[in-house]
Amino acid sequence: MKIIRTKAELRALTQSWRRAGDSIGLVPTMGALHAGHLSLVDRACDENDRVIVTLFVNPRQFNSPEDLAKYPRTEDSDAEKLTPYGADVLYVPDGPQMYPDGFATTISVTGVSAGLCGGARPGHFDGVATVVTKLFLQCDADRAYFGEKDYQQLQVVIRLAEDLDLKTEIVGCPTVREDDGLAMSSRNLRLGPGPREIAPVIAQVLDDAARVISRGGQVAQALDNARAALLTAGFDTIDYLELRSDPDLKLMNRADRPGRLFLAAWLDGVRLIDNVPVAGLASVPAPEDHPLEPA
Ligand code: AMP
Repeated sequence: MKIIRTKAELRALTQSWRRAGDSIGLVPTMGALHAGHLSLVDRACDENDRVIVTLFVNPRQFNSPEDLAKYPRTEDSDAEKLTPYGADVLYVPDGPQMYPDGFATTISVTGVSAGLCGGARPGHFDGVATVVTKLFLQCDADRAYFGEKDYQQLQVVIRLAEDLDLKTEIVGCPTVREDDGLAMSSRNLRLGPGPREIAPVIAQVLDDAARVISRGGQVAQALDNARAALLTAGFDTIDYLELRSDPDLKLMNRADRPGRLFLAAWLDGVRLIDNVPVAGLASVPAPEDHPLEPA
């Protein structure tokens, strides 16, 4: 696997691949790779002639300089982890490669970016949409692979690719979990041993609530119970816990169509997110006291 740090070198390589008729798969990451990232790489290698994994800790998608500074940077071990998969390139641009002096363009996706992480982290999805668009173009990607772990991000990227007529096909991949159910995340490394034991409660609570709701239980009650269970387990605060429609991410207060439960909560100073599907009930009576919100 070749490590490339400049757009120019990357362009020369992708042009030679194009001349040979090769398809190009892209896996954008911020590094600190784990089995979740590697599942995307594995799929990309199966489905494309050439694969580029990118490693760029994108300052524009962080809300605080402290969070950006604390983000793990482990390029050498990331490169080692990728070796068995057969990716062709690890592309590691620096800040000026991505945002040279005078850079003044922002891609901003409305609709699916509202609420959830878009509400809790203002500007976050503008940063994501801008960097992802640049990476698609720099890598000349036919397909790009994203995890359902960041489900709202996946929907934002699908939207922007469609709206901007990008040729890159967006491929969503299932969330990879630890044996105890905790969704894999680079942020899990920042949890102390005690909080790490508590963290899997997220997955249990979401699964329980999804089961109750998909069997016809009241959404508001199920979410209240889930919030209480998280706080009792030791979570500090909950940014959001909501049922949203899939894939348009509209707030739902009854399960009359397929949806997903979305959670962001703080534990030990670390913000953890997760989401699970909720099957829509064939017919749900609209209770008088829980009218549907306008779409
Ligand atoms: P990140 O490095 O956190 O920006 O993530 C890079 C890509 O890996 C994104 O598309 C994430 O959704 C995906 N990803 C992160 N964690 C997981 C996971 N546990 N399972 C599947 N995909 C993941």
